[in-house]
Amino acid sequence: KQYVHILDIPFINKTKNEVVNDVFHQYLKEGKKGFIVTANPEIVMQAQKDRDYFYTLSKADFIVPDGIGVVIASKMKKKPLKERVPGFELMKELLELGHKHGLSVYIVGAKPEVLDKAVANIRAEYPGLKLAGYHHGYFNDNDGHITEEIQRTKPDLILAALGFPRQEQWIKQNIQKVDKGVFIGVGGSIDVLAG
Ligand code: UDP
Repeated sequence: KQYVHILDIPFINKTKNEVVNDVFHQYLKEGKKGFIVTANPEIVMQAQKDRDYFYTLSKADFIVPDGIGVVIASKMKKKPLKERVPGFELMKELLELGHKHGLSVYIVGAKPEVLDKAVANIRAEYPGLKLAGYHHGYFNDNDGHITEEIQRTKPDLILAALGFPRQEQWIKQNIQKVDKGVFIGVGGSIDVLAG
């Protein structure tokens, strides 16, 4: 089965490697736009009380189960998800793909000094990856210049580290304004990469 629904959220029933493979072959290689949500129980609960957020999640191409709580819920429904797909690990796999295949990435989110450290670490760890640009996450959503920069630099991958629900709302608003890019909400992952 392709999807398992938990509280009306359609989780893709694939292993992390299968998801990475699909994202690469069906989206990145084709230059097709994509929207990935790594949904933990907090995100699932937020969608229950916030219809607008629920609608935003319905626009995603992949919703992966980030957190053992979602996998446990699927087992209780007797529709077990294959495995947990942690957002941080999925992001690292995508950066690794970028390194191997010379893809470009744009990063938006985190505090300025944290982002600078993360960018330095990413450059060192994934030298084959091209950095299309980056911007900290403390900006006004009405300010269009980040979107313009993404449209101009055409990154393959866009990491949005704005915390939920803002990052998914930002992705939904912005993905329709650009011609290409796979967008993923990565929560606090940039903070982790900064060390
Ligand atoms: N963040 C941001 N802009 C904001 C709020 C948060 O860039 O307006 C960043 C924050 O600096 C951190 C990331 O979002 O790097 C994720 O924050 P948090 O751990 O609270 O989110 P979660 O992982 O729970 O989604």
